[in-house]
Amino acid sequence: MSITASQYDLDVPDTIENGYFVFTIMPTLQCPYNCKHCYLSLEQRRDPTTMTIDQMRVVCRKVDAYWDQVQPPSRVVLVYNYGGEPTSTGPEYFEAYVNMMAEEFPAAKGYEVKHIMLTSLLGVDLDVWAPLWHKHTGGYIQTSYDGSMRSSSYVRKWEAKVRDAISRGLRVATISVVNADLLEQGVANTLNILADLGICETGWLPFMLNEQNSVAGKYDRYAPTMQAFNDYMIEMLDHWYSLKYRGIQPPSIGEAHFAVDRARRTPMSNMCGQTLFLMPNGDFVLPNYKDGYKEYMHSFGNILEPDTTFHDILVSRERRLYMRRQVTRNKNPECQGCEYKNACLLEFAKPNKTSDECFGAKRFVAHAIHRNSLDPLLDGPVTLF
Ligand code: SF4
Repeated sequence: MSITASQYDLDVPDTIENGYFVFTIMPTLQCPYNCKHCYLSLEQRRDPTTMTIDQMRVVCRKVDAYWDQVQPPSRVVLVYNYGGEPTSTGPEYFEAYVNMMAEEFPAAKGYEVKHIMLTSLLGVDLDVWAPLWHKHTGGYIQTSYDGSMRSSSYVRKWEAKVRDAISRGLRVATISVVNADLLEQGVANTLNILADLGICETGWLPFMLNEQNSVAGKYDRYAPTMQAFNDYMIEMLDHWYSLKYRGIQPPSIGEAHFAVDRARRTPMSNMCGQTLFLMPNGDFVLPNYKDGYKEYMHSFGNILEPDTTFHDILVSRERRLYMRRQVTRNKNPECQGCEYKNACLLEFAKPNKTSDECFGAKRFVAHAIHRNSLDPLLDGPVTLF
């Protein structure tokens, strides 16, 4: 079962300092695919460099030493393996780090550790991986779904893999970057396809500009405006309600649950204070933005440096500046008095586009909260994407 934010005290923000760590590991960036929204360069995707288990153990020991010092009220670690393609390091590697973390983050010290993997599913041998996921992730996996953006033959192979995975008792959630092809496919079609496959949860992200897709017109070709994103998400939520009323069980829409849940929490709960990405070389990073809203990975320091502690990373100048940007919502004028600040989908603070609706998807957030106030089908546990 996934750990859900609503299991914890609504007044205590989910932050690393409070003992809630969304530990997003990228032990390798290797991936055989060339997705149009990917923030990794071709060179990074073809690079087999992988953090060793011993190095990852050093990182875990530094996290544990930090929590020994600050004695937080809980010790929750959600280990998201996002890669690259996380299965590319092989099943032995996966088992080795899961077992290593069980040693370094023992339940006897109050640790609650959950493992989650975001896989393309293509080329994955389910005879090998399905039993491992049943054993270590509670049978839950996440996979990317972007409609036909990666080609129709990709989608056909992916659908076959999803059906195979579900027939083996796995619970499969999707994460989608909303793109022009999904818009063309249409909301009802898209949600019906995912419901028919048996997907349990969905997550929907705006298409972000980065170094890779800013060339050759890829961003301009595939990225919808935030106005189109809001329209799409509102229509999807309305379709989701109508499926529910017809007795059909569509997959949940993560962002709708997120908005309803976060609106009830403190502003600090929506600040990225719980998340760090670990790169293969030991850098702790988070997505940041330059030249407007172009995404890049911003480093807060390298945890594998012998003298660097986890505390050093958390209080580093770079992280403090980063957190200030979250707290002030990048000083965006429209964000300052916004009543949806806590619930907004502006995942990592950046400037809004001047000629578009905000990156927080305010209109969709308001719609989800309003619909839930009339019919509270969005109450209940929120799985953290
Ligand atoms: S919903 Fe929009 S205006 Fe409100 S805080 Fe988020 S990004 Fe800013």
